[in-house]
Amino acid sequence: MKFKTQLLHSSSGDPQTGALTTPIYQSSTFTYGTAAEGKARFSGEHSGFIYSRMANPTVQALEQQLAVLEGADEALVVASGMAAVSSIFYALASAGDEVAFIDPVYGGTAAFLVNTLSRAGISVSRYASDDDLLANIHPATKLVLFEPITNPNLKVTDYRKIKAAAAKTGAVTVCDNTFLTPYLFKPLEHGIDLVMHSGTKYLSGHGDIIAGVVAGRTELMQPVRTIALKHIGAAIGPQEAYLLQRGLRTLALRMDAHLAGAAKVAQFLAQHPAVSKVIYPGLVSDAGYPVLAETVGAFGGMVSIELAGGFARAEQFLDKLALFTQAVSLGDLESLACHPASTTHAAMDAPSRLAAGVTDDLIRLSIGVEDPDDLIADLAQALS
Ligand SMILES: *Cc1c(COP(=O)(O)O)cnc(C)c1O
Repeated sequence: MKFKTQLLHSSSGDPQTGALTTPIYQSSTFTYGTAAEGKARFSGEHSGFIYSRMANPTVQALEQQLAVLEGADEALVVASGMAAVSSIFYALASAGDEVAFIDPVYGGTAAFLVNTLSRAGISVSRYASDDDLLANIHPATKLVLFEPITNPNLKVTDYRKIKAAAAKTGAVTVCDNTFLTPYLFKPLEHGIDLVMHSGTKYLSGHGDIIAGVVAGRTELMQPVRTIALKHIGAAIGPQEAYLLQRGLRTLALRMDAHLAGAAKVAQFLAQHPAVSKVIYPGLVSDAGYPVLAETVGAFGGMVSIELAGGFARAEQFLDKLALFTQAVSLGDLESLACHPASTTHAAMDAPSRLAAGVTDDLIRLSIGVEDPDDLIADLAQALS
């Protein structure tokens, strides 16, 4: 089956009742009936649900579908993207190990690694780029995390260089694929070990839940599942799982609209005299263009711009927007706009913020599925 067909036909619905969509099994516990069956379930001799923090039928149906969509042995759905990140690192790194990431990554990810994971006796190295990692990877590095398109400066990282670098030390590679989704890129098919997502963004797509996903080979996924559910306790509720599965059904339709809208908006902004810089890897002039053209063939739904004039100019522009909603997050149906330096990245010290490309001039746009002509008209009036 092609991916668009899989989105609709990789879910089994509810074989017990014939319900076409998976029902919401809103139950914390599941009876096993007899003491002997209880013993058999807890020992793993019999399969069957026990307690929803460990497994729930609605969540399990979603996990089975995501495993198919990612080409994974197994997928895990957790309470947030950050639960996915922290579970991966706590499960696969131990005291004395070293882990690495390519700057910049999602702010919450960098903060977790540098401020919290490091307290477990794990050393954390940050590399400026895929080339930097390839040239300078430390022999002790066990785990490398990267984002193919980074946030919010939309820098492109080449997974082939990450793979080549990690092969030198046998490190496990982790791709945060939130910006691309499996519709556009399936890291596991290209030899990356684990893929993760903030399911809050494009996967669910409607801006109504917080969720996280991890997928990969069984031997890596088993410890991640144990840490995430049994120890951290980051189970997702069945309502959220239902909404994520419902959102997935339209992933391809939505992504096509996001991609087309972003391309059109970026072309408009690139020729506008009031815009000093357009950052969008689909522009042929963008440094990331050749890598994405070769490896993914798509450029995502995010566009960032710089308006010379710092916060004051950004504020003027943002407050004039009528269709774009000022909010953090991304990948929703509605177009969103934010000023990262004063919001999502305000907690960073200025040198690290600037090193991550988050200047006071930068504005990040998540292009929704509205008619791009209306979005362009809104941007034009706000710029004027
Ligand atoms: C939002 C986001 C996260 C964190 O996900 P939450 O669902 O907010 O916990 C991680 N990585 C990327 C790239 C994100 O955009």
